[in-house]
Amino acid sequence: MDGNMRWKTPCVQCFDELGFDTKKMSFLMGEFDEEGRVRLVCEKQHNTVVIVDATRHQILLTSGGTAFLSGFANEAVAMLNTALERAYEHFIRVVCRAKGIDAKLAWPQVGAQSERQFGAFVFLYLLTEGVAPPQASELAAIRNRVVHKGEIVNDRVARTFGEEVFKRIQLIETALHKYADQARAELEEQLVAQEASLPAMPTSAVARVKMTSLEVSGDQVIGKVKSFGDFVESLKDARLKGMA
Ligand SMILES: [Zn+2]
Repeated sequence: MDGNMRWKTPCVQCFDELGFDTKKMSFLMGEFDEEGRVRLVCEKQHNTVVIVDATRHQILLTSGGTAFLSGFANEAVAMLNTALERAYEHFIRVVCRAKGIDAKLAWPQVGAQSERQFGAFVFLYLLTEGVAPPQASELAAIRNRVVHKGEIVNDRVARTFGEEVFKRIQLIETALHKYADQARAELEEQLVAQEASLPAMPTSAVARVKMTSLEVSGDQVIGKVKSFGDFVESLKDARLKGMA
């Protein structure tokens, strides 16, 4: 196995036919695809697609936490790094939406390079919060060692990276509190796009689920959790209960 986050779900079509019968129900285990969906086929060849009602950065943070928990430190760093990049993007899109501006007008000029996206985030954050976000130099150093130089990192480095990423995602989600409606609208647009890009299948095969087993409350990944360490512990609990 690799460090990817898996999702456990019953086949929705069998579920419709048999009802909620835990004895007959077969649970399927799938992994998230690039779009943040889980696609499953049961033994009767029914398709089930699970679309998780969470932002990309929340899903990736969870995947990164799961990878860390499974001892895949490098994969964890790579996923957590992507989680943070997607959180920057989410912030940019939500703030533009709140100003009545479509972020797509400028995104093609920054979308291909994460450093450009980061620059856009820093100044939008400065504009909306009145202060610059804290420096991310340690994050960049670890990321470059792992992502660009292919260095094998240990758990301690991955944990440090996870704590820094978690803090920054927390900062971003806190700053987005005042744009809760726009944040929800942004997520809704992404979920609709995820459904629209699926191959033709019965709408009943597509299930939207909340990340209730995890520490996501409303549109916040943090919930009661205050650190990456706590977050990973909550994932461990969810896994023990068979939910993740
Ligand atoms: Zn089935």
